[in-house]
Amino acid sequence: MEAPRPRTVRVRWEPHRPHTPVTRVIETSCCGTLEWCSEGGRYLVLRRGERGQEEAGRGRYPEARAVWAALVARHECADDDELRRFRR
Ligand SMILES: [Zn+2]
Repeated sequence: MEAPRPRTVRVRWEPHRPHTPVTRVIETSCCGTLEWCSEGGRYLVLRRGERGQEEAGRGRYPEARAVWAALVARHECADDDELRRFRR
């Protein structure tokens, strides 16, 4: 089976509702905008939205990972002063 192409993956952001007491961050996008996380054997992507943390793609590894890959391919890097200072 071919991996889904990034542009065809549908992404729906929702408020983050943790399913476990601890969300484990496994990987962070280049600028920290997106976080690849696991909660109790399921995977999801987190971002900081206007109204707090949002999640997308919650599910088993293959499906969640396809959402992560699509978001990383599409995302625009955060560009605030603090981040620029940090990266310098
Ligand atoms: Zn980035």
